[in-house]
Amino acid sequence: MHRLATTHRRNGLAALLAAIFAAGAFLLPDAAFAAGAAKASPPAGRTASAKRKSAPARRNGKPAAKPAGKSGGAGNSRRGAAPFSSKYRSPRNKERPLRKSTRFIILHTTEGAARGALEKLSANGECHYVVDTNGKIYTIIDRGRLAYHAGLSMWNGLTDLDSCSIGIEVVGWHDKEATAAQFTALKRLVGDLARVYKIPDERVLTHSMVAFGNPNHWQKRKHRGRKRCGMLFASATARSKLGLAGKPAFDPDLRAGRLADADPELTKILYGTGRDAQKASSAAADGAGGKGAANPARVIGPKLSAWDIARDQYNSKSTIYIFPNGKKRRGDEISSREWRSMPAGTIVQLPGDAAAQESAPESAAKSKSSGGGAAGAQAPRQAGLHSIGADARPLDVAGAAAAASTTIWFPPRGSWIRGSAMTLGQINSLPDGTRVLIGYRNAGTVSPKKPVFMICGPRWNNPDTWYWTDGKLVSGARVDEKNIPRGAVVFVPEKR
Ligand SMILES: [Zn+2]
Repeated sequence: MHRLATTHRRNGLAALLAAIFAAGAFLLPDAAFAAGAAKASPPAGRTASAKRKSAPARRNGKPAAKPAGKSGGAGNSRRGAAPFSSKYRSPRNKERPLRKSTRFIILHTTEGAARGALEKLSANGECHYVVDTNGKIYTIIDRGRLAYHAGLSMWNGLTDLDSCSIGIEVVGWHDKEATAAQFTALKRLVGDLARVYKIPDERVLTHSMVAFGNPNHWQKRKHRGRKRCGMLFASATARSKLGLAGKPAFDPDLRAGRLADADPELTKILYGTGRDAQKASSAAADGAGGKGAANPARVIGPKLSAWDIARDQYNSKSTIYIFPNGKKRRGDEISSREWRSMPAGTIVQLPGDAAAQESAPESAAKSKSSGGGAAGAQAPRQAGLHSIGADARPLDVAGAAAAASTTIWFPPRGSWIRGSAMTLGQINSLPDGTRVLIGYRNAGTVSPKKPVFMICGPRWNNPDTWYWTDGKLVSGARVDEKNIPRGAVVFVPEKR
C-alpha cells in the first residue's frame, strides 16, 4: 500500500518531467533513469500517452549514440513519453561488457506468455527489450551492453551476432500476428535505435534469419532453419507496419553455401515474394510442419520427424515425448540411437504448449468415457485443429473434451456439429477425414449486415481463426478480407 502511494507521487513527477523535457526528449530511456526513477515507471496509457499525443518527442540522435553506460548521457536521453518499464531489468546488467559495435537489430518472438518470458529473459539477460502485447516496453539489458539473445548465429559470414546487435523480444508467437499496440511500440523503438546506431532497414533482421544449427541427427551440415523465431517480422506487411522499407532479398549464407537449408518453407517465408511467401506462411500457420501456438501438428509420423516439429528444442529437457504406449520421456533423455526409431503417433509437447493447455477449456463432458481407452487418457486435447484418421480416433484426439460444447466437429460431408450435440458413440463413429476444433466457439456468420470485423474484430486474419465455408475450413491467415464469402461461419478460440 505504501509503495502504491509512492508510485502515484512518482507518476505525477514523471508526467511533469515528461512534459518539461518533451521538446528535447529522446525516446529511449537511459541507464540512470531506468535504474532509478523508472522503478516506479507509469503504466502505458493515461498521463504518459496523453502527453505523447500532444507533444510528439523530437529525437536528438547525436549525443545518444554513446552506449548507455552509467554516464551515458543522463541529461540528454531523458525519456519521452514512451511506455518503458524497468520492472524486469536484468540482475546481470552490470556484469555485461559494453558492445563494441552495433550493426544489427534482431527481432524475436517469445513463443510464450509475457510473465514467464519476462522472468526468464531478465534472469538470464537474454535481450535488451521486451515488447508486451499492450505495447509496453520492458528494458532488460542496457542497450549499449551485451545481451545473449541470438545464440548460434551467422549473417553474411559474420558469426556471434550478439556481439554486434540489439535484441528485441516481442511477446507472442512466430506465426501469429502481433497486436496493433506492439507494432506501434516496436516501430518507435526500432526507428529510434536505427537512428541512434545508424542501422539501415536491411539490417533489421529476425532471429530466424540469423540463427543456424550445428550438424545433428537430421542435418549433416551446419544449417539454417534451427529456429523460426520472429518469423512474422519478415513479411512485407509487418515490415511496412514497422516503417521498414528494405529487407534482405536472399539469405547470404545459404547462397554462399556456408549453410544448408534445413527449413525450405521458412526460407520461402523469409525471402519469398508475394504469393509464394503468403502460401508458405499460411501452410506454416495451418500446421504443415511449423510449431506455433496455433499449430496442432505435434504428432510424429512418416512425414513429420521430431526435428520438423520441435527444431532445436527436439532434445530439450522441456520437450516431452508421449509415446503411443503412454510412456513419457523428456527430449534430453532420448539417445541418438532412439531418434532413428521414434514411433509414429508419438506426441510432442513443446515448452510453450503447457500454457496453451492450461487455457484450453475443461471439458463439459461427464467424462466417464472409458471409450477413449488408454490412448484417450493421454491424448493431447490441445486447443486447435485436429484431424481424425486411422491412428487418431475421435476420442483419442479430443479425449474428455469430445462431447464439449466448445469442441466443434467437421465431418467430411455435411455441416459442423458441436460435441455436446452428439453421444460419445456417435462421436467415435465419425469417419476418417473428420476435423475437429477443440476449445472453440462459433463467433457468428458473415453477412452483408455483419462483416467479419463485427464478428471477431482484428482477429479476422489470425491463423487460429477458422472459417467454415463451402464445406471447407479455411484459416484466417488464408482468407482475403474483400472476398470472405457470405454465410461463412467464423470459429474463434474460446479464450486466449
Ligand atoms: Zn529468438
